[in-house]
Amino acid sequence: MTTPQFPLQDQLRGYSRALFSTWLYHRRFNILFDAGEGVSTGLMNRVFGIRRVFLSHGHADHIAGLINLINIRNLGAGDQTASLQIYFPRDNRLIEYVTDYLTRTQKDLSFKLEWIPLDADEKIILDDQKSKIFMRTFKTRHSQRQLSLGYNIIEQRRRLKPQFAGLSQREINETIWAKGKEEVAEEFEKIIFSYGGDSRPIEPEKISESLFLCHECTYMDVEDDERNFQQHSYLDEVLETAMAAKVETLLLFHTSLRYNLDEIRKKLEEAIAKKNPACRILVLYGDGIFDTAATQNWRRRIQKEKAQEKASGEHP
Ligand SMILES: [Zn+2]
Repeated sequence: MTTPQFPLQDQLRGYSRALFSTWLYHRRFNILFDAGEGVSTGLMNRVFGIRRVFLSHGHADHIAGLINLINIRNLGAGDQTASLQIYFPRDNRLIEYVTDYLTRTQKDLSFKLEWIPLDADEKIILDDQKSKIFMRTFKTRHSQRQLSLGYNIIEQRRRLKPQFAGLSQREINETIWAKGKEEVAEEFEKIIFSYGGDSRPIEPEKISESLFLCHECTYMDVEDDERNFQQHSYLDEVLETAMAAKVETLLLFHTSLRYNLDEIRKKLEEAIAKKNPACRILVLYGDGIFDTAATQNWRRRIQKEKAQEKASGEHP
């Protein structure tokens, strides 16, 4: 009943910048969360490993990569027969336009493609053999006009009932011998991975004690949302959300293009010093995942960005 160190960073590959493109591939479950532009060129032959796509909403930066993805799955040099299921928030006009385009243009697919509309609080079994791992959807707050969804990967686990916590192993064993295993153990649902898409802060109870929360963080400061659309989140409130939900690892993504990596690093340092969150914090910036506890790879990318800025004479 120990908690494995999961998910490891090498299980994830993605790209994210607000307005431009967001996608995140989770290798262990062969799941792609969102399908922004560049997903196929980013994953190359790994696109054949994708079995399920879960879309958070229908904005272009989250679905523009679908057409190419399906085309490559159909024609590329990989397993062209592996089925693909695309899950999306129900009644989404923008996603329906894309499905319509694909049905018109891709009549003879070499693999089975399914489009599956979802509502909030739906359960999708991911592990067919034991039904121990499943996805559950939750509603997020993004656009007024369309349903947007977040996703939790949940594992059915067993643990000692709280009333046995203070007893010795011998006493517990005696109860098991006398009354059976079920007397001392209980099943519970552990959230092992959460993906929110674009949204205002997710309600902490929806992602409670998640091992790995992917939360958007479009703005570093509240004042930066100058158009005041109130559709996205800023750093302080994302940290508060992660702390209230007691998540183990927080991955920030969907940062606005106004910040370069050095600015994000500074803002993060300030916010962490102020709030002192217990969770580990990572940032998906462009195609790189940066760990706030390991400065080495940040430094390399920041230097590269500075050199590029100098060469082009403008902000990247
Ligand atoms: Zn977006």
